[in-house]
Amino acid sequence: MRAHAQYVIVGNGVAGVNAAKTIVEAKPGAGTVVLAAEKHHYYNRWQLPAFLAGELAQHEILFYPPRWYEDHGITVHLDCAVAQLDPAGHRVVLCDGRQVSYERLLLAAGSAAVVPPTIAGTEKQGVFVLRTLDDALAIKAYAAGTKEAAVIGGGLLGLEAAHALHALGLAVTVIEFFPRLLPRQLDIAGAELFRAMVEASGIRVITGAVCQEILGEGRAAGVGLQGGEAVSGGLVLISAGIRSRSQLAQAAGLEVKRGVLVNERLQSSAPDVYAAGDVAEFSGQVYGIIPAAVEQARVAALSMLGVDSAPYTGTVPLTTLKTMGIDLTSIGEVNPEGGGVQEYRVVRREKGLYRKIVLRDGRIVGAILIGDKANVSPVTRLIKAGADLSAQADQLDEEDLDFRRLSSGDAPKLARYQCTICGYIYDPAKGDLEGSVLPGTPFEKLADSWTCPNCGASRALFVRMEE
Ligand SMILES: Cc1cc2nc3c(=O)[nH]c(=O)nc-3n(C[C@H](O)[C@H](O)[C@H](O)COP(=O)(O)OP(=O)(O)OC[C@H]3O[C@@H](n4cnc5c(N)ncnc54)[C@H](O)[C@@H]3O)c2cc1C
Repeated sequence: MRAHAQYVIVGNGVAGVNAAKTIVEAKPGAGTVVLAAEKHHYYNRWQLPAFLAGELAQHEILFYPPRWYEDHGITVHLDCAVAQLDPAGHRVVLCDGRQVSYERLLLAAGSAAVVPPTIAGTEKQGVFVLRTLDDALAIKAYAAGTKEAAVIGGGLLGLEAAHALHALGLAVTVIEFFPRLLPRQLDIAGAELFRAMVEASGIRVITGAVCQEILGEGRAAGVGLQGGEAVSGGLVLISAGIRSRSQLAQAAGLEVKRGVLVNERLQSSAPDVYAAGDVAEFSGQVYGIIPAAVEQARVAALSMLGVDSAPYTGTVPLTTLKTMGIDLTSIGEVNPEGGGVQEYRVVRREKGLYRKIVLRDGRIVGAILIGDKANVSPVTRLIKAGADLSAQADQLDEEDLDFRRLSSGDAPKLARYQCTICGYIYDPAKGDLEGSVLPGTPFEKLADSWTCPNCGASRALFVRMEE
């Protein structure tokens, strides 16, 4: 291992690898070293539920072949966790005691799954979290000997994991603390409709429940709820949120709140130390989503290179459910607080359609779209632009409203398409040279095997941008 590198990156998740890629693309030959705690090369974390369900093989979720790193001059040390950061000495100390000095360092250590200390017995055999490929492998192996599972947490990740376990043939119960599913992404009415869809898929749902303990002697046998009810499950999966892995930074004296505090250049409070992705807190927010990790990684990398680029100003939260055959997208402020807010809804239970548009002082700031995929792209665009829709407000609760009509501008000859997972935009004028797609290639002509160069999403996960 080289004892010195110009650019050192801690973590080989989406933020770390995208930053490394930006560095070597902008400055070929730049000495870039990635130190990675996991023993696997960068894989698509968001595809772990599909891997668990058996829909994707392990090699299919791996992002780049090992050769790619060599070809791009990026040195990756796997199974090589950083144990200590010394900002004054410009060096990091690895778990085995070796040291690497740097000129600029990026913390991209991501986040860990929260295991609530209020639940007793989480150390029992058969209790899991789903964060890493190794977690998924362990869950898969354990599930083979189990018939029932309890999933604690009815957020996006818990539901995708529940669907995966169900696909493996287990009877699954999801237990949610809040009175509704997807409390961060849905409102009361949207969650009601969504719950009916989840239950129709064969998954049992309990909401408004407090988990007290994991039942069973040594091995999990279920979950005991406050009030005495017991939910059986030989496999218990906890999906109760994330916590930034900011311990290294904290121990080194960097400013840390919920994550490592960064400014609009993704600089931390220590000189030459940057942070991006789930580990970073910008303007009071730890986003915990891929589009933010990708945007932050790019700005951080350019800042590390000293390139004068547009500052990071925040990411509009956009989350999409990728399993269960339900089209659900939640963008921006969906449960707004404060004044000046108007909400417009379309509810057609029989069609599985729910649309909520949130205006604040006439400007669109959030939306929930269930069963309305066609409007995802134009609505996202309007929200990102902070468009004033007050003049069109009387149309917003029309079922057939086509939001493309509300987006201004002439349509380009060849449409651009946006990835619903990471926000990458496929621009036919540029093509995708890395994927050997020549400029001028329309999205519709891309090979079925083509995947998003940022996050590996398939073509089906792209939506047309109406511009
Ligand atoms: C199952 C699942 C599904 C998800 N689905 C979606 C989705 O559909 N859409 C979406 O937007 N987001 C999704 N997310 C969230 C998304 O994956 C994260 O926001 C994203 O991975 C954050 O990227 P990151 O690079 O900051 O951190 P991570 O992906 O967590 O990567 C950080 C890496 O750093 C390593 N590391 C940690 N500490 C050290 C150390 N001391 N030394 C060296 N290496 C270290 C870790 O081992 C890890 O490999 C999902 C997450 C999970 C777990």
